[in-house]
Amino acid sequence: MKNNYSTKDIDFSNEIINWYISSGREDLPWRKNISGYRVWISEIMLQQTQVKTAIPFYKKFIKKYPNLKSIAPATEDDILALWTGLGFYRRAKNIFKAKEIIKKEYSNRFPTKFDELILLPGIGQSTAGAIMSIAYGKSYPILDANVKRVISRYKNINLEKKDAMKNLWSLSKSLTPINNIFEYTQGIMDLGATTCNARSPNCKECPINQSCESAFEKFEIGNKNKKEKSKKKIYFTLAHSKKSFLLFKKNEKTFWESLWVPYDNQNLKKSNIFKEPSKSEIKNFNHTLSHMDLDITIEIFDYKRPFKIKTNLEHRWVSKSQIDNFGLPKPIKTIIENYG
Ligand code: SF4
Repeated sequence: MKNNYSTKDIDFSNEIINWYISSGREDLPWRKNISGYRVWISEIMLQQTQVKTAIPFYKKFIKKYPNLKSIAPATEDDILALWTGLGFYRRAKNIFKAKEIIKKEYSNRFPTKFDELILLPGIGQSTAGAIMSIAYGKSYPILDANVKRVISRYKNINLEKKDAMKNLWSLSKSLTPINNIFEYTQGIMDLGATTCNARSPNCKECPINQSCESAFEKFEIGNKNKKEKSKKKIYFTLAHSKKSFLLFKKNEKTFWESLWVPYDNQNLKKSNIFKEPSKSEIKNFNHTLSHMDLDITIEIFDYKRPFKIKTNLEHRWVSKSQIDNFGLPKPIKTIIENYG
């Protein structure tokens, strides 16, 4: 990618490159055995998740699917199962869709061109840029949440202005160097995640504090624009027998799409798909999603043996020992793991 940058921009990138070499987090698991595939998985996980949370999920994922060959036969359920507890499950669905495209259209070789990457589900301009620069050493700008924070502070950009994103992309492009792109990209990501963090930037230790237009300012991280979350009540019926649980695949295009959940008894009507249980128990708890607060009531019905039900809904009895092979929302999985 062609770029015209000034001496000041070169200083910016050099400071960040040198800082990465001396202080960057080289021990992160996705910074070892680098390949396009591994950078892709890590970047998708990091899209809405902090590094600390993503690490164990990444390790588990890469242990099961170390490369494209191993993930090629995986079903969507297999991938969702590894995502349980990480949230934003659309990311896992996109990994499934993308690897299917790679299998069919690229003979199962990971794309090496920006224009190919950006066409894959779940890969936007910043993720494609990160893969190009980290895996292939090509100069492409990125603008994930951390980089956005560093650049907006460095150039004192008001993020509430209409054209802020356009400006930030243009700045990211002009600040991105041609050489040492691997160190620069990792460095600016690390700087945003550690030193120029959201609440208390450590300007004293920052390598660009001499030229940053916001250095040593106080940042108010208020909730003034925070939208009130919507609330939703959910009523589930969970049939249980001999260490097996009757689960249904959620097909609605809402939260938890494609995950396995108990019977959704939305209208609280006595459903005739269940017989009278030998014992029942009610559990109630709250669960917070990024955009919604859920008030969940689960009625657990105990039966002597599993039974057939008449329904068009996709369903199956899943034994407790097999639960790790299915994608379940974390609170439902916890209930099942601790039951009986
Ligand atoms: S000087 Fe401070 S505000 Fe500026 S980039 Fe560094 S840490 Fe962030």
